Amino acid sequence: MSSGADGSPSSSLLLSGLSLLTIFPTSPYTGLSKRRTSTASHSTQDPTDAELLAASVELDVEAPSSSAVPPTPQRSLPTAEPEQLPLEMQPVSTAEVLLPEGWKQTLPKEQHQWVSRALFTRDQSGRLALTKNLRLWWPPPGPRLVYTQPPSSPDTFFHSRLFLWMPYRMWAFKLLCVHPECRRLGHKLKACGTYKTVRRVLDFSGWYFMATEYLECRRCKKKVAGWSQGILDQLDPVHREKFPAILTYRLSCDKEVVSLM
Ligand SMILES: [Zn+2]
Repeated sequence: MSSGADGSPSSSLLLSGLSLLTIFPTSPYTGLSKRRTSTASHSTQDPTDAELLAASVELDVEAPSSSAVPPTPQRSLPTAEPEQLPLEMQPVSTAEVLLPEGWKQTLPKEQHQWVSRALFTRDQSGRLALTKNLRLWWPPPGPRLVYTQPPSSPDTFFHSRLFLWMPYRMWAFKLLCVHPECRRLGHKLKACGTYKTVRRVLDFSGWYFMATEYLECRRCKKKVAGWSQGILDQLDPVHREKFPAILTYRLSCDKEVVSLM
């Protein structure tokens, strides 16, 4: 649960507190205005990444990265990188970005490389696959403490941590469809890939990003995001408490920040 966003230049912006929500509805340092839209309201236009259903193949390999960050499995080494350069020293263009299309559009570009390496791989048939080593928080590698030569990219200085919310996949909850009739009949949801939109959440140290799974009813085929209220309400208090934020239609805020309001 460490905070990997401490070095983010956006931290200072928090000095003005929640007023940022209105001043900077989008990222102040990148043009990311299209990032956040809605949550469950996208359900009709989401074929999303069904190939993730075949999620398999473990991902994490030892990483060669900086000593500034505790060793975490997300700093994996791409197999196509023979020189084993530290993550932040590798040319951006050499590594393939393995992300669902929706994530590429809603996750800021400077987060692509590390999230790709941490969470995704290709299975034996070449399809995008989510790592099996799922957990809630993913701290980014971040910049090194010392650079002996200029980094090839400034991206590591802008890394933010990622929160991955997948109650169905992580804990195998038997979740019911949110449709009243399906619910009455006990129809369950099944995994349907990753939700296409990654959201940005304000917390004390800056921003973090949040991604979730997509669930589909076996009967009515209605799709719902893993962070929707209808899903959260079905969890027991212990797991429900692990969800860290309050999501509104457009904005998202960490519960700790909300508690000060
Ligand atoms: Zn249903």
